[in-house]
Amino acid sequence: MRAFAKPFRGGIHPVGYKEFSQDCAIEKLPAPKRVYLGLQQRNGTLLSALVSVGDSVGKGQLVAKGANDMAVPLHSPINGTVEDIRDYVSAHPSGIKIKTLVIKNNGDSSWSQQHGSIHPLSLASDEMLQRILDAGIVGLGGAGFPTGIKLRLARDKQVHTLIINGGECEPYLTCDDRLMQEYAVDVVLGSQLMAKAIGARKAIIAVEDNKPASIQALKIAAAELHDIEIQVVPSLYPMGSERHLIKAVTGKTVAPGTLSVELGILVHNVATARAVYHALRFNRPLIDRVLTVSGAGIEQPKNLLVPIGTSVADLLSACGGLTMSAQRLVAGGPMMGQVIPSPYTPIDKSIGGLLALTDQEVRDEQSHDCVRCGRCVAACPMGLMPFQMAAHSRVSDYDGAQDYGLNHCLLCGACSYVCPSRIPLVQHFSHARGEINAQRSMAQKSALARLLTNARAERLAKEAAQRKAEKAAKAAERKKKAAQRKAQQASESGE
Ligand code: SF4
Ligand code: SF4
Repeated sequence: MRAFAKPFRGGIHPVGYKEFSQDCAIEKLPAPKRVYLGLQQRNGTLLSALVSVGDSVGKGQLVAKGANDMAVPLHSPINGTVEDIRDYVSAHPSGIKIKTLVIKNNGDSSWSQQHGSIHPLSLASDEMLQRILDAGIVGLGGAGFPTGIKLRLARDKQVHTLIINGGECEPYLTCDDRLMQEYAVDVVLGSQLMAKAIGARKAIIAVEDNKPASIQALKIAAAELHDIEIQVVPSLYPMGSERHLIKAVTGKTVAPGTLSVELGILVHNVATARAVYHALRFNRPLIDRVLTVSGAGIEQPKNLLVPIGTSVADLLSACGGLTMSAQRLVAGGPMMGQVIPSPYTPIDKSIGGLLALTDQEVRDEQSHDCVRCGRCVAACPMGLMPFQMAAHSRVSDYDGAQDYGLNHCLLCGACSYVCPSRIPLVQHFSHARGEINAQRSMAQKSALARLLTNARAERLAKEAAQRKAEKAAKAAERKKKAAQRKAQQASESGE
């Protein structure tokens, strides 16, 4: 194996647990009886349903869209009938209920006619980007940001290098690894198309050195293409973080508070590259995704191609159900994932993993006082002082936590992982960030309310002044007419 110098400061080597599913080829999950498509995105953007209860819908049909490009359109992943539009549990960590389209499967798995094959390299950049937007593609690495918008911004900033993220550094997750092995050609061609759409000179597919089969498959798939490079990077958590991958691949540092496009670099995930290939080559919207179902709490760990909107319960039953020792369900990886609030939660486009963890894996141990060992500082890839941020967050001193860099924290969990006192550092940070956001939105609401109150008072004063002026004008008019009448009477009486 190649020996690497440390590509960035901090970082950790968590236990991988990838052996649960790394040899499991991707299986296509049969479409479930029902899918649940939420009409509110993770960022709060609302979508309007384009169908009504009782309507028949086809696989790939547009069923909901929003007011602008930030609202990614939704397509039906199955052929069936709209059974209901009702409030239903969402994939948001709070489990908040949102308006949801419930589509009942009719058992037919064919695509409708409109999804034929096309020659994407003949498309102009604008048309490529529009098709990507119309296909409802979001970043499948977990961020969920609309891919078309990210690509358009990159083109406008004249990005020269596209990096395709094949890091998959979270423990347990192996879906990207399997995707790179089994769909290497799709990933390579999707990367090439994305690079063409934004005018980038080259695309680099970066893969961690613990995925030799993926590296080999991608090298074979890209062998004839001079504008695609496969680069091996060391496995070090959090290599999947955009700024750390850029550092490892190019040696360049994305300064805190800036975007990678300022350096002429754009990063996308391997699964997103495949989705782009399908959208441009076959005119197919994003209606399914590959995810890993794993953990010691699951009977049969698998990598599955899953229709968007499938419920967690359906996924669990496809994997033989939970073991007796299963204790917690997590969406995503164990480092950055979120606890799933309900087994009926539907899989949305951002979820790349479903873990069933046991007591032993959850490591919910009693936390102790900080012993100032500095391990969290050494592990932090952002160069922060986690123990200081936690001390301020714990007493709700959010300004103090921000002074120590809370806004730059990736919530990667490396600090919590190494802490010998088992202090749930990252939980303090997520809580603090949530509170700050809530305070900010409260302040914005109060400012808006103040603005509206002032505007109302101004309008009322203006209306009162107008009424007064009209009254005065009418009185003057009456006075004038009375004077005219008097003058006329005087002239008629010969006075
Ligand atoms: S690793 Fe834990 S115990 Fe050590 S300094 Fe950081 S918070 Fe304190
Ligand atoms: S969670 Fe934040 S503070 Fe902790 S290691 Fe990651 S970036 Fe640093």
